[in-house]
Amino acid sequence: MSGILPAGVLRAHYSFGALHQALQPPHAFLALAQATEVLQNLKKFLILATSYNKMIQIFSDQYFMKIALQQALQAQEAGEVPIGAVLVHGKTILAKTYNQTELLTDVTAHAEILAITAAANQLNSKYLKECTLYVSLEPCIMCAGALHWSQIGKLVYAAEDPKQGFMRYGKELLHPKTKLQYGLMADEAGMLLKEFFARRRK
Ligand SMILES: [Zn+2]
Repeated sequence: MSGILPAGVLRAHYSFGALHQALQPPHAFLALAQATEVLQNLKKFLILATSYNKMIQIFSDQYFMKIALQQALQAQEAGEVPIGAVLVHGKTILAKTYNQTELLTDVTAHAEILAITAAANQLNSKYLKECTLYVSLEPCIMCAGALHWSQIGKLVYAAEDPKQGFMRYGKELLHPKTKLQYGLMADEAGMLLKEFFARRRK
């Protein structure tokens, strides 16, 4: 990656590792000012990264995860918990969604559920066997159940969710044929959530 990205993008990207460290206990309770700085850095990174998307291995997992993170940012700006998803068939994006539980007053309106419904409509197929879902946070058990029924081909999530994530119960919640990958851009996705909850606690 270092060979194809401008230095500014790299600096913005690698600064997240350091920021992530700074967020660990005993500094877990961030001042709002710090949290805001983190968010600004993340926005800067995403804008820069978007500008150079074509240079970063287009249609790679990282490419699509960045779009999921951009959706998470949109959720944050709409006052929703910042979680975003992208559902892809081959190189085609079928759905870009973010959490809309506040807007729709619906606890089931998670980014993953909205993406599954939109993609199934696009494909006119209730099964998504050839598709990949990229989501910024480990899905909850409701979404893992929906992904199971959709028989999704592959799930890629960024940050872990030890409290609400389906992995507490194991990969078995997914369909046996679903491939699983996680941890991609986890720091960036985690930052958004930490900033959101730090701001909400204030
Ligand atoms: Zn969910």
